Parts: sequence; structure tokens; C-alpha cells
Amino acid sequence: MILFKKETDLTNWLGARRKKGFKVGFVPTMGALHAGHISLIDSSKKNNAITICSIFVNPTQFNDKKDFEKYPSTLEKDIYQLEKGGCDLLFLPSVKEIYPDGVTPTIRYDLDYLETVLDGKYRPGHFQGVCMVMDRLLHIIKPNQLYLGQKDYQQCMVISKLISLLGMNELVEVIISPTLRETDGLAFSSRNLRLSKEGRIKAPAIYRGLNMIKENLSNDSIDELKKQARSMLEKNDFRVDYVEVADATNLSPVNRWDGKQKLMALVAAFINEVRLIDNLLLN
Ligand code: AMP
Repeated sequence: MILFKKETDLTNWLGARRKKGFKVGFVPTMGALHAGHISLIDSSKKNNAITICSIFVNPTQFNDKKDFEKYPSTLEKDIYQLEKGGCDLLFLPSVKEIYPDGVTPTIRYDLDYLETVLDGKYRPGHFQGVCMVMDRLLHIIKPNQLYLGQKDYQQCMVISKLISLLGMNELVEVIISPTLRETDGLAFSSRNLRLSKEGRIKAPAIYRGLNMIKENLSNDSIDELKKQARSMLEKNDFRVDYVEVADATNLSPVNRWDGKQKLMALVAAFINEVRLIDNLLLN
């Protein structure tokens, strides 16, 4: 695997191969890699001659300074996993390389209602930061395919919208990969590394809550199911940001199901001051 820290090194290397018609798959990450990340690398490798992974803990997307400072870093292990997984190139830029003019936003991305619900509401500015870094990375790498995880479903929608705003629809295809889970249902997440032993035992309550909503969708009201899921989380010492049921196509909240609408349940909750998110398609 090749490792580049500089944009120009990466674009020179890539330019020569693009001329030969090689397709490029891109997996952006913030490191502390786990099986979920590697599943995206695997998918990209199946469809592209070149698979690029980036590791960049993006300061502009953290609305909570402490969350940024405590974000796990396991670079040596990450490199080992990427090598083993057959990733072709790791892009490991510095903050200066991504933001040569500083981290203060100069553009406001028009994300409309997407920024007003769920993580948009609970993490003000977060998705603007996501757009800031993805705007840069997409222009540097110009991938044919961009691999994202369903675990961050709202982020997938935001980035798809960004690609439209940037006029890159024809160039970049977004592929959303399923959420990979531990055997007890907990979604793999870099932040799981920060859980205490007890927190780790309680954390799968998120997945149980999501499944409870799915299993009872036809029997109970959505309001009642959300209350029950919230109570399951609180009994396991979670501090809940939201338990929501939304239209999977646009994330607008749904209170009454018409039996046809494609629904998704989404959760964000803190345990041990670690914020975890997860979601599940309900039908
Ligand atoms: P992150 O490093 O958390 O920014 O994640 C990088 C990419 O990996 C994002 O597209 C995530 O949605 C995806 N990802 C994170 N966790 C998982 C998981 N458990 N299964 C599949 N993809 C994931």
C-alpha cells in the first residue's frame, strides 16, 4: 500500500493511472478502523482497479471539543488492517493540507431540512463540517465510486446532496454499504473503543431497541414504540438525544404509518459520555 500525506503527490500518482482508464473507489474515514470500515474497502476492491482510503479526523465536524480531543487514534493498527485488506493507497493529510486557508468556513452548504432534523438538530454545524471536508476530498480524489456506511445514514444523505450541489453527480456514484455489527448487535464504531467494560455490556440496548420497534411496528403506535425504546435505553444508563422513526427516503419524522412508506428507526444516545448512533430499516 502506498501512503501519501500531500495532495500533489496523490494527484500526480492518480493522474497517470486515470489516463489508463483505471476506476477509483474511495473510502473516507476518521481512522481507528474496524471491521465496518474494512467491509467498505472490500466492496470498493470488488468494483474498482484502485481503492483509496483516507484517514483524517476532521476538526470542523466536531461540535463538541472534548469529543474531538478524545477521538481514538490507532494509526499503526489501521495501516496494518488496510495492508491486510488490500487497500491500494492511504491518504493521510494534515489539517493544514486539507484546510490551507484555515478551518473557518467560507461557504455555507444549502442542506435545507436535512440539517434541521436528528443529528442536524442535535449537533449544530456538524454536517457543514462534513461537507467542508468532503468537498475538499472529492475534489482531490475525484473518485468514480464513493463508499459510505448505512450506520451514518443521515451523513450518506448529506453527502449525496453535497455531490449534487457540487455538480458531481455524473462523476461520483455513492454506494451505501450495510452496517456491520458485533455478535451482540452493537454496530462497529470507532467510539466503541472509549466505552467502559460496563458501558460495552449495556451498549447493545440500542440495537435491541431498534429491533423492538421493527418487530412491533404493525401492532403499536409509533409514539408508544419510541417511548418504549427510549425507556429501554434509559434503563441501561443511556442519556438519549433522540429515538425517531422517519421516512427512509427523506428522514422526515413519521407519527402514523400508512403501511407502505419505507421507514427507518434512528437512535442517538450517550453512554459513558460517548455518543453512539445507529439505525434500522423497519420494512
Ligand atoms: P468514520 O471513520 O466513523 O467516519 O466512518 C467512515 C465510514 O465508515 C463512514 O462511511 C461510516 O458510515 C462507515 N462505517 C462506520 N461504522 C460502520 C459499520 N459498523 N458498518 C459499516 N460501515 C461503517
